[in-house]
Amino acid sequence: MNIVLFGPPGAGKGTQAKELAKHYNIPHISTGDILRANVREGTKLGMKAKEYMDKGELVPDEVLIGIIRDRLQQPDCKNGYMLDGYPRTLPQAEALKEILEKIGKPLEVVLNIDVPDDELIDRLSGRRMCSCGESYHLIFNLPLKEGTCDSCGGKLYQRDDDKEEVVRQRLEVYAAKTKPLIDYYSDRGILVNIDGTGSVEDVFRQICDVLDPYRK
Ligand code: ADP
Ligand code: ADP
Ligand code: ZN
Repeated sequence: MNIVLFGPPGAGKGTQAKELAKHYNIPHISTGDILRANVREGTKLGMKAKEYMDKGELVPDEVLIGIIRDRLQQPDCKNGYMLDGYPRTLPQAEALKEILEKIGKPLEVVLNIDVPDDELIDRLSGRRMCSCGESYHLIFNLPLKEGTCDSCGGKLYQRDDDKEEVVRQRLEVYAAKTKPLIDYYSDRGILVNIDGTGSVEDVFRQICDVLDPYRK
């Protein structure tokens, strides 16, 4: 199953991708998680990426294309992949197409999770993260124990780029650079819109209805 989970910041891509990856047994590849792991570990890549991430800007295309090219060639992608947060620009989408042609795993579905802006702001401002990649929400998705990750016991934190000024900038960058990819994939006949406003379970069920026929 070769899938892209698409949508604005806060749409619920990470939340859904984690569950879907388990359900369909394919790796969840989140470029945001990969970049944050590099920032935490203080790698050269992480230090460069952080400058952009803290401002709510996109990290340069060539950096992301390199990350994705390497990641998609790992053995765990043999039965497919679920991309989350990539592609975010037209050059990234074109590079992806080329990489996927070379490895013989063309995209099957792009799921566009749609959520209105005011709800995105509420979701992002209450989001709390764990370094394992799990995300929670102060109102909509509480952990069992306050401040603590259910799945690994890690301490939850607020992402620097989930502060209000940066959130607005990220939504603007999304509208200008990323949203045009909806037309790009819709023209190719592989875009499916998902109403992302329901509960986590509602959205999950909607997505499974779309993906089940692609199960091998
Ligand atoms: P993305 O990866 O698209 O940026 P996340 O999956 O991190 O989004 O979700 C953003 C925030 O919204 C998180 O705090 C998450 O717990 C919460 N969230 C995710 N899905 C829903 C939903 N269907 N309803 C309410 N809150 C949600
Ligand atoms: P979101 O909650 O917006 O879905 P992500 O975790 O996907 O956030 O991304 C966080 C930040 O990492 C982005 O604001 C951007 O700076 C950087 N980033 C992640 N993926 C990409 C990408 N494909 N291209 C450029 N920058 C990226
Ligand atoms: Zn955790």
